[in-house]
Amino acid sequence: MARTDDDSWDITEGVGATALGVAWARSQEASSECALFTDTYAQRFIDAAMDRGWQLPPAHMVERIRAIANYAASRTKWFDDFFLAATAHGIAQAVILAAGLDARVWRLPWADDSVVYEIDQPMVLAFKTEVLADDRPAARYVPVPIDLRQDWPKALCDAGFDPEEPTAWIAEGLLPYLPAEGQDLLFERIHDLSAPGSRIGVESFGAGFFDPEYLASRREQLRQMREAAGTSDTEASEAPDVADLWFIEERTDVADWLMDHGWRVSSEQADALMLRYRRPPTADITPRTTFVEGVRG
Ligand code: SAM
Repeated sequence: MARTDDDSWDITEGVGATALGVAWARSQEASSECALFTDTYAQRFIDAAMDRGWQLPPAHMVERIRAIANYAASRTKWFDDFFLAATAHGIAQAVILAAGLDARVWRLPWADDSVVYEIDQPMVLAFKTEVLADDRPAARYVPVPIDLRQDWPKALCDAGFDPEEPTAWIAEGLLPYLPAEGQDLLFERIHDLSAPGSRIGVESFGAGFFDPEYLASRREQLRQMREAAGTSDTEASEAPDVADLWFIEERTDVADWLMDHGWRVSSEQADALMLRYRRPPTADITPRTTFVEGVRG
């Protein structure tokens, strides 16, 4: 599925299906000996998608997701902790950008009177709200179904967001799906909507992630996994590599951007984070990302 400037998707298609891939990875944490988090919703999303005819990706891609399971678990835990810290600092308004099948509104202990806005494509959020229709969120939940390349600040404010209130924002598993210019615009908009005391947590994909050699070695690993798993050409073409959905372009460094705009920033690279959570990184497989936290002074 080639990307276009105004493409859209359902949960089982293209970029939408990446949310199912992440949910599947999170569902695997239930069988971990020492789970970093509990997400009982993840399996329900997978079951509901399968009821609609979605199939797990072919074996080699499942193998790849499994190979980065410790990364996915560490990432989930990092963003969970980010929101817990924001709540402890008295922030009661949160925005989850590109929420996909993130179930934090249902599974984290939010403070009373908290409100969480979730932005994602309309069909993705419609699937999620349908699956969780009978579940009580732990905060006031406000879905904002809109593409992040459109005028989402207006949609967010129309939905009740208060730019005068400090906000906790997260961008997890999002940035490669936005063009470099779209990423810059995203941060400009977040900055404009952030009252003093606001916080942001970002999974940042820098030059190391988009390095051509690294991307080539990643493709080669996938090819080897495909060969080992005996995936057929048809299966492979029906489930393209997620990298085909990324905008592989030189990007502004997120930490630098935030610092230049007056945010206090701390960063941790993925492998250091994983060691801290006792989930050893795997050389050449762990994504070359950085977890960036910013506080607006
Ligand atoms: N943040 C979620 C998580 O970690 O579980 C989902 C991550 S998933 C890899 C990527 C998500 O980004 C999908 O839900 C997709 O619909 C959303 N997304 C990507 N580009 C988007 C855009 N331009 N507008 C709205 N949502 C977008």
